[in-house]
Amino acid sequence: MDIEAPEEAKELPKIQRLDESVVNRIAAGEVIQRPVSAVKELVENSLDASSTSISVVVKDGGLKLIQVSDDGHGIRHEDLPILCERHTTSKLSKYEDLQSIKSMGFRGEALASMTYVGHVTVTTITKGQLHGYRVSYRDGMMEHEPKACAAVKGTQIMVENLFYNMIARRKTLQNSADDYTKIVDVLSRFAIHHIDVSFSCRKPFLSLLCYQHGAARADVHSVATSSRLDAIRSVYGLSVARNLIKIEASDNDPSRSVFEMDGFISNSNYVVKKTTMVLFINDRLVECTALKRALEIVYSATLPKASKPFIYMSIILPPEHVDVNVHPTKREVSLLNQEVIIEKIQSLVESMLRNSNDSRTFQEQTVESSPSVPSITNNESHLNPSPSGSKSQKVPVHKMVRTDSSDPAGRLHAYLYKKPQNHLEMNSSLTAVRSSVRQRRNLKETADLTSVQELIDVIDSKCHSGLLDIVRQCTYVGMADDVFALLQHNTHLYLANVVNLSKELMYQQVLRRFAHFNAIQLSESAPLQELIMLALKEEELDLEGNENDDLKMKIAEMNTQLLKQKAEMLEEYFCIFIDSDGNLSRLPILLDQYTPDMDRVPEFLLCLGNDMLHQGSICCFNLGFISLLCHHHLHHCR
Ligand code: ADP
Ligand code: MG
Repeated sequence: MDIEAPEEAKELPKIQRLDESVVNRIAAGEVIQRPVSAVKELVENSLDASSTSISVVVKDGGLKLIQVSDDGHGIRHEDLPILCERHTTSKLSKYEDLQSIKSMGFRGEALASMTYVGHVTVTTITKGQLHGYRVSYRDGMMEHEPKACAAVKGTQIMVENLFYNMIARRKTLQNSADDYTKIVDVLSRFAIHHIDVSFSCRKPFLSLLCYQHGAARADVHSVATSSRLDAIRSVYGLSVARNLIKIEASDNDPSRSVFEMDGFISNSNYVVKKTTMVLFINDRLVECTALKRALEIVYSATLPKASKPFIYMSIILPPEHVDVNVHPTKREVSLLNQEVIIEKIQSLVESMLRNSNDSRTFQEQTVESSPSVPSITNNESHLNPSPSGSKSQKVPVHKMVRTDSSDPAGRLHAYLYKKPQNHLEMNSSLTAVRSSVRQRRNLKETADLTSVQELIDVIDSKCHSGLLDIVRQCTYVGMADDVFALLQHNTHLYLANVVNLSKELMYQQVLRRFAHFNAIQLSESAPLQELIMLALKEEELDLEGNENDDLKMKIAEMNTQLLKQKAEMLEEYFCIFIDSDGNLSRLPILLDQYTPDMDRVPEFLLCLGNDMLHQGSICCFNLGFISLLCHHHLHHCR
């Protein structure tokens, strides 16, 4: 029997238990606040899995797609069913473990959260397995049984349509286009801390066209190195790396503080308006506003130009002194004796800056030489007559050209084919070069194809001597944006389209090395069909459905067959080695000392297949396609 509730009681809010899926989605929105938080979690998982190479692809600022691939230990098949459930982790089993936790993850929430606000697909293979597994998740659960598939070592996690079910969040994010920048920023930070891991981050290649506009190259591209300074140089550029001072501090008095710190801080020559503070505490990328402020104050008080600093710092404390569990995204940690530590670091930085102020010219000279930069052939040296060093003392800093004379990127012409001045000389010197190359590589004399020679002749006949001179003699100043580089020649400044220039360079290299390429041997040969499938999938992410998959499968199969048929020619002319089972094991070196971006190999193979299909004959073969293997080298020196 129902009892009529009195009027006022009806209006009182009633407490009810929320549906579990609502709870999960709310919690997920907190852990994954923006696309960049998902990237950070995924990269941290890859680092926890002992990866040495991590590559990230981001579409539409991460809303359409985030894909993180690593070469870590992978995920066991039997763990896949609970992988994306909330609070499932391999890193923590009891609360006390938190005291000594070394891994970055421990809550087992990240992947689960992603499945509540996006579509997650995991492809993984563990050591010793013949094949990997792929499975998709929604709301913490597998959508189907894991499917066996070919896989390369490690794990690939794909998050699509992030926040598809959180309209408001999606809208705010769509309006702000800066998440890609944030993602690049986070990866740059990881890259300079984990220097034994190589990182890359880029937008997907939609088509060849995109590449031509320079949109598909990696925006972070670091290779494993043993020097922190090299890593900083390759990620943040020479202008940062050359102006850094090494800093170290420690304390081991339990009544005061216990910590070890090392890092790099910018000196007085470094003048920018915005602080960059890269801080790792016990190998966690964190923020510490108090420390940042403390250091900014020192910089504005000590340096004449009141510049904002660039700071990289890694602080190691006993694990029990750090509470890692104070922030939902683990962005902040709390430290024992925080004030003491900050004060100590602050006064050290202050004294170092004062010293660096007193010895500005010294600083500059010690960092000028960069031993890690590959040296350039000596016949170039006459083009750059002024040795570095002696000059730099007199020129005021603000008038100095930002370049390093031992940096090959500073001299574009170093890579360009030099046309002999005298036309009569040309033929003989060409043949001489070719035969010496041939001798060096000990190759058979098969490739003096007239068609290739004709293409070379076209290049030579079109060569503009004025422009050639500029490219030869210019000094690289810096990148003006993603595509244009500033070059200085005599008293003129030029904007050069580096993408076009690099493509032309690669094209010319291919022609001149035709049938005489040196080889890059892949550590494991890779199945063509699988690679082409990858490329097709990345190309058309918008289209869904099985029918489409079938079509892609057919295209991949066809392209593989075609490439297999042409394997002999590909090997002889282009040093692309494909075995009878359709595995790729060798690629050509287009530019010495340049390792192409292996992420682009699937795309390259797809284009190769398509080119063959449409053009077939070698005479009109578009050699430019090979340049796809190289994204332009100059952006490294930004
Ligand atoms: P947590 O990192 O806190 O453990 P996550 O939800 O991020 O939680 O990941 C859950 C588990 O999935 C991890 O504990 C780990 O065992 C496994 N995992 C996630 N990503 C990877 C990866 N890239 N490689 C290997 N294992 C992974
Ligand atoms: Mg994690």
